[in-house]
Amino acid sequence: MFELEKERVFYYFEKISSIPRESGNEKAVSDWVLSWTKTLGLEAAQDAAFNLVIRKKASAGYETAAPVILQAHMDMVCEKTPESSHDFTKDPILLKVENDWLTSACKTSLGADNGIGMACAMAILEDDSLAHPPLEVIFTVEEETTFKGANSISPELFYSKRMINLDHADEKELIAGSCGGTGVMFTLPLSWEKCENSELGKNENAGYEAYEIKVCGLKGGHSGEDIHRGRGNAIQLLFRVLQEIVSVGGKVISVYGGTNRLAISREAQAMVLINDRQAAEEKITAMKAVFQKEFGKSAPDLDVMMESAVTKISENERICYLKDSEFEKMAAVVRLFPDGIISMSGDFPGQVDSSNNLGIIRAFPETGELQVISEIRGLYRTMVEDTKSRIEMLGSLFGAKVEYFAGYVSWEYAQDSCLRKTALDVYKKMFGEEMKVSTVHAGLEGGMFTEKEPEMDIISIGPSCQYFHSPMERVSIRSVKKFYGFLTALLAKLK
Ligand SMILES: [Zn+2]
Repeated sequence: MFELEKERVFYYFEKISSIPRESGNEKAVSDWVLSWTKTLGLEAAQDAAFNLVIRKKASAGYETAAPVILQAHMDMVCEKTPESSHDFTKDPILLKVENDWLTSACKTSLGADNGIGMACAMAILEDDSLAHPPLEVIFTVEEETTFKGANSISPELFYSKRMINLDHADEKELIAGSCGGTGVMFTLPLSWEKCENSELGKNENAGYEAYEIKVCGLKGGHSGEDIHRGRGNAIQLLFRVLQEIVSVGGKVISVYGGTNRLAISREAQAMVLINDRQAAEEKITAMKAVFQKEFGKSAPDLDVMMESAVTKISENERICYLKDSEFEKMAAVVRLFPDGIISMSGDFPGQVDSSNNLGIIRAFPETGELQVISEIRGLYRTMVEDTKSRIEMLGSLFGAKVEYFAGYVSWEYAQDSCLRKTALDVYKKMFGEEMKVSTVHAGLEGGMFTEKEPEMDIISIGPSCQYFHSPMERVSIRSVKKFYGFLTALLAKLK
């Protein structure tokens, strides 16, 4: 750090980095900032969740200006390389300068997300030479995991109706909205046929054997931020294969795929009974060629496999399988379930506005049901409601139960935003180029603040940071300086 420490943003970032602050463990950093506000004589409040609200009076001439919130989150994602011995519960994160980049010297994530945002706000609170309206600085907890801080903070604690969120990671971009969403649990009762292994042999299509069919090697990714990349969903591809297998006499025993509703599924598999091995293998080869054509570029490792599973089913075990009509019901639900992009943005070309990610599927004879778990996202609340109603229609057609969980509110894009207009003007005057405006197809704290104060005018900005949430995380020193200049100039314009 050395020279950099003279600059207050970096000075405060180093202080913050010395205090462990994994999500859920923010008390120490919150207490430290609170005691720091006392040394400056600032008014501050800490709530039961350890959120902080700090107030600073307007500078001379700005007394009648509307107040503004500067907001950042205190927690960080704690990732380290396998060889790092760093203990995130007690060790400070030491900083290292490499050319223009500030990184962790401990082979860990840096925590510039969002420690740099906090440091900018602290440097502003400390500096009495800056021009600004009344300031409310809000530092929240658990942004990276549950949004507990933004969710639980009482609207009684702040009175501003405009807010600058400092959690973005691209100096040339301003974020003007974020999606809301909900988890979906769709449960369809199914009935399995029971038979002895020997009974299968008496069937006119004698000679059934158990096989495992697997679709794997897809790239996956985040259910929101990567949903537009055309990477394919292993669950959907598996069902296309299963429909072909059933068409040549195959019987489906069980299906399971995906590991997390917030991730695009990379792998899915089914146990099946097959009596015409050659016909089934031909179908597998044909479907593999189809998928390689459709997804060759995004998933070069995509594979469809069929392997004997005889060893997985004992001789005397009673095997259950789905009758063709039950399989067709299950296949119809999966294939008709909204999946992937639902609508693109008219305001921002290339940006997704609403989606649903079919993340997990399970259908086992032991439970007697099909479970589909997905994540709905939408920039406008009405978009989330619309997708919910489509899934409910599917549910009532097939007699399935639909439940929702882990819902969060969107920060809707406002066609007119005074704060955004001022920020774009300031940026253009300072740097001679337009700032890009966009929305994100992921949840941000802005949604929770608009829920508390519907009139809240919000922008999200920040300096350029790369590889966040990973041990390679780094922030550009030049960009932090540029951003700090921009932020203070913007505050001076908010009369
Ligand atoms: Zn963040």
